[in-house]
Formats: sequence, C-alpha cells, structure tokens
Amino acid sequence: NKIEDDYVMGEALGKGKFGSVFLCRSKVTGVDFACKTLPKGEETVHKEVEIMQHLSGHPGVVTLHSVYEDAESFHLVMELCPGGRLIDEMTKEGSYSEHKAANIFKDLMLVIQYCHDMGVVHRDIKPENILLTASGKIKLADFGLAMRIANGQSLSGLAGSPAYVAPEVLIGDYGQKADIWSAGVLLHALLVGVLPFQGDSLEALFEAIKSMKLDFHSEKWQSVSKPARDLLDRILTRDFAARITAEEVLSHPWILFYTERTL
Ligand code: ADP
Ligand code: MG
Ligand code: MG
Repeated sequence: NKIEDDYVMGEALGKGKFGSVFLCRSKVTGVDFACKTLPKGEETVHKEVEIMQHLSGHPGVVTLHSVYEDAESFHLVMELCPGGRLIDEMTKEGSYSEHKAANIFKDLMLVIQYCHDMGVVHRDIKPENILLTASGKIKLADFGLAMRIANGQSLSGLAGSPAYVAPEVLIGDYGQKADIWSAGVLLHALLVGVLPFQGDSLEALFEAIKSMKLDFHSEKWQSVSKPARDLLDRILTRDFAARITAEEVLSHPWILFYTERTL
C-alpha cells in the first residue's frame, strides 16, 4: 500500500533538518497521526525506525505506528502529540515553577533511564524534540541521531545541538551520560528561563561548555531552591564519570520533594 491509500495528509506540524512532519488521518479508523517523511538516500532512517521499535515499550517514547516506502521517501507514521513541542511551551512560560519543572524533569529522566537501560543513547535531547500529549505529558521524539551501544562501548562522532552538547562529546569519547548533560541544559532553562552556555560564535559556545562555571550567586538564582541548584550542579558536572545517572536523579531530594511517588 501507498501512504495515500491509507491516510489523508493534513497540515504541516513541523520541519526538521531532513524531512517534514505532517498531520495525517487514517482512512480506516479516522484516527489522527503524525507522519515524518524522510527522503531516501538518508541511510539513518533504518536506524531511526529500528530504535523506535526497540523502545516501543515505554509511554514516554513517541510510538511508531507504521512505515511506508515509495520511490523517493520513507514515511514514518507516529503517534500524534497534539500538545506540540516543549520548547514552544517554554517560550510562552518563561521559567517554570519548581513544582512543574521537577515533574517534567522526572518524566524526562524516567524515559531517558528507559532508553539507557535498553542500550540506547538519544544524543539529541532538547526541548524541540520533547513533545506533549493533549494532557501535557511529555513524549521523547526524534531518534534520528540515537545509537545503540553495548555495555562499556563509547561513541566518538560529534552529534547533537550545540547549546546542549556535553563537553565529552566535543572531545569525542562519550556514552549515555551525554544525554544527562543535555537534560541538565534543559533543566537550567526550565528553572531560570535561559540556556546555561552561550557564545557569539560556535567556538565561544564550545569554550563555555568546556570551562564556564555556573554562578549560583547571580541574581537569577536567588529565587531557586538549594536542592534544585544542587541537582543541576551534579548534572552539569564535566567529569562524566562523576556526573549523576538517571537513576540517581530520580532519587534526588529535589525530585522526591516535588513529585508524587508512583511506585
Ligand atoms: P528532525 O529529525 O528533522 O528534527 P523531528 O522528529 O524532531 O525531526 O520532527 C520535527 C518536528 O515535527 C518536531 O519538532 C515537531 O514540531 C514535529 N513533530 C514530530 N513528531 C511529531 C509528533 N509525533 N506529533 C506532533 N508533532 C511532531
Ligand atoms: Mg528534531
Ligand atoms: Mg532528527
């Protein structure tokens, strides 16, 4: 079957580096989905599909429903996230209450922990790739840069988005802890409304990532609790061996204080 046989294509939902994402509706069930179309010649599409299938067992991962192939493209029919991107919600909100930040961050850590337990490094954790359900729950999306790694294996290719990239990724020897750093960059933005590392050029940005120390004495941190600052400090630790794991984040006092125990 061709995708047009089974779905009615709708409005554009987003655009990425390679493909575009459109709303689509099943002709059989009337259910809405999101369709990511990737041009052929992009060999990574097989890996993206394989990893999404591998990770299908978690409610925090965008579910892949079906895949179509035609002469020019692959079409990935995915669960629709009607709440849009976390980045757009953040832009509207400015900074979040600690209660809200902790709950979003806990859900993100649960899904990152699941990815890591399943042997996957996402490599592109950022709020453009975190989508929201109708009720505001997060779903991790965009496994286009994700890699499966065996225990103890490390990666070397530069990947990800400059502002979120971990220092060890710049050096070229990294693993799952790189996702924790990127999540920490996001946590910084949730708490104070700005990214921690900035620069007028890519070189200046990378220099800041490699060496800039967070100044918790500055004005913007005065209304943020000590446990929140402590957690962020443990995440944005440059020595990735010493950096906190997803599991440790989940039992950090700040997370425990602000979130409901579910287990
Ligand atoms: P890229 O690899 O090109 O960055 P993404 O998978 O991140 O592609 O998708 C690009 C954009 O399309 C997202 O930032 C989002 O706006 C939108 N999008 C992707 N998947 C969905 C989805 N399942 N539901 C709703 N919107 C989506
Ligand atoms: Mg993306
Ligand atoms: Mg991608």
